[in-house]
Amino acid sequence: MRCFWDERQRAHKPAAEFFNGGLHPAAEHDGRVDAVLASLGSTETPVDLGMEPVRRVHGDDYLDLLRDAHDEWLAAGREGDAFPYTFPIVGRRPLSLSRIDARLGQHSFDTSTPIGPGTWEASYWSVQAALGALSAVIEEDRTAFAFTRPPGHHAGRDYLGGYSYLNHAAIAAEDALAAGRTRIAILDVDYHHGNGTQDIFAGREDVIFASIHADPSTDYPFFWGHADESVGNILNLPLPRGTDWNRYEPALTHAIDWLEESAPDLLIVSYGADTHEADPISHFKLKTSDYAPMARRIASMGLPTLIVMEGGYAVEALGDNVASFLSGF
Ligand SMILES: [Zn+2]
Repeated sequence: MRCFWDERQRAHKPAAEFFNGGLHPAAEHDGRVDAVLASLGSTETPVDLGMEPVRRVHGDDYLDLLRDAHDEWLAAGREGDAFPYTFPIVGRRPLSLSRIDARLGQHSFDTSTPIGPGTWEASYWSVQAALGALSAVIEEDRTAFAFTRPPGHHAGRDYLGGYSYLNHAAIAAEDALAAGRTRIAILDVDYHHGNGTQDIFAGREDVIFASIHADPSTDYPFFWGHADESVGNILNLPLPRGTDWNRYEPALTHAIDWLEESAPDLLIVSYGADTHEADPISHFKLKTSDYAPMARRIASMGLPTLIVMEGGYAVEALGDNVASFLSGF
């Protein structure tokens, strides 16, 4: 399988994240990169397709913030990574504010997603890896893998969160539509709900989105991913903590059957290995050997398929988990 990765994606080096009342070492760190690359063997460096595909999904104000936030943070006399600490509540009127803390709050929904000096560079090349793999899928009508890092599925049109800054699955879906595909299926199998992807495509007819994830009543991102959000082109299948393959497989079949009803002509898989039993921030019980049958079931849809990487933080097992998943295609 052709795999895409750019070394500039290493430039994002968050030191810490804030949750559960304290600062913790960042779970989305460089060790993930080495683990996944070791499992892939060779990768291809994507060509630079520029900003046009990014602008189909993300707004200019938000993109300006991603690019400038760390410089402004330093100019404000701060050190280290930029973090928001104040957020507008639902229904608060939109304001045009200039202080960096206000801008960060306007475009964030958590305190786990800092912006460092290399965040923009890494995110930009992560998008290009996704677009490179998409080109391979479209040209050759088969499956390709983009090692997108940092992840993307929590990022909305104008907000970051969940270690995500630019939404690769969404950007690739829009690019596939621009290339002439007519209906894109997105299947999100990360442990966490793909809230950004859902937000971006809710109400659309040309993109359908199914997500299997931990019940947001107990797990991040809490405010999205509930079963009753399954309306129109959205299907959410929340599962309880402790879910193993026996419980996961029927949900996967349900999601695939539902996606197939819309007769998509291209599939994008948001693959997260944080469903693994050893994941330090998650609570499912999938085993490394479960990812191959998961992938075979997805491959049975018979669609040209782009796989993008989302989460997966059990570094010791991460390479084997990715290799097991890709082997199923
Ligand atoms: Zn996740």
